Amino acid sequence: MYNEGDTPGVGKYECTNCGHIVEIKSDDEALPICPTCGNDTYKKVD
Ligand SMILES: [Zn+2]
Repeated sequence: MYNEGDTPGVGKYECTNCGHIVEIKSDDEALPICPTCGNDTYKKVD
């Protein structure tokens, strides 16, 4: 699990609440608050 503000690296992350996918495109980009539901935890999409 990853939280808003973490910089987990390039990849796709799925909101654990609503399933919205956030794509991180650089290793220094932080996960945002979910733009759809306001949740702040994600899991990595393989
Ligand atoms: Zn969400």
